[in-house]
Amino acid sequence: MSAFDDAIAHARTWIGGARRVVALTGAGISTDSGIPDFRGPQGVWTRNPKAEKLSDIRYYMSDPEVRRLAWQSRLEHSTWSARPNPGHGALVELERRGRLHALITQNIDELHQLAGNSPERVIEVHGTVRQVMCMECGWRGPMRETLDRVRAGEDDPACRSCGGILKSATVSFGQALVPEVIDRAMRAASEADVLLAVGTTLQVYPVAGAVPAAKAAGAHVVIVNAEPTALDELADALLRGPIGAILPRLCADL
Ligand code: NAD
Repeated sequence: MSAFDDAIAHARTWIGGARRVVALTGAGISTDSGIPDFRGPQGVWTRNPKAEKLSDIRYYMSDPEVRRLAWQSRLEHSTWSARPNPGHGALVELERRGRLHALITQNIDELHQLAGNSPERVIEVHGTVRQVMCMECGWRGPMRETLDRVRAGEDDPACRSCGGILKSATVSFGQALVPEVIDRAMRAASEADVLLAVGTTLQVYPVAGAVPAAKAAGAHVVIVNAEPTALDELADALLRGPIGAILPRLCADL
């Protein structure tokens, strides 16, 4: 048996014996669905460092040109045509078998819910691109309707209630997380028997802190990612390779 097969076998034993698996997912679980990550070798920022500006709240709020570009990029966002892949499916399987306690995701694409995970188990720490919110009055609405306004010629549509700046209901860089949401995520992590981190570089805090929090509370940590992550030293099983192949193998028939 190779060291890799051995690590898979150990991880399957822990997951198979767990009542509370907590998954922590990042952009890497959705690349097989056609949504590029940011920091991977083919990532949006790796290929075009200037794209980082579109995700930074300071530029977004102060520069109408950044907002115009952001709305154009939302129009063409790969999320609109993306479908869940076998990696998402594996986490649905875990929930069906009654093992999934919570699914903390940094993703904004809602593919976990589309795949079939119950919305009440999914903790979206960075929000969702499928909704829009007003930065002034807090109004929220479906992204689809605001994109129709952009298509009709408004290149930086304003809030119809108060005239404020509209943005996807996501947490941009420089923007505070929602305290109740991150608290819920950290609480779930501290209750885990197994913390399964998938497709994330584990560089973005406080979310990455879910891994040491789970470890400190006695959970086994399983990391699935193609590249090294910032917290590999905490892993009890480190599974380096393609998520679409590893995650279904890890979660099938437990
Ligand atoms: P990241 O871009 O920092 O890292 C993704 C990691 O996944 C990389 O290490 C990459 O090597 C790995 N990876 C990519 N595809 C893989 C595959 N098929 N198999 C195995 N590994 C794979 O992602 P992050 O740490 O989640 O941070 C980026 C932030 O940007 C997130 O917080 C999120 O809010 C946002 N984001 C979301 C989406 C989305 O919703 N799908 C996409 C891009 C960025």
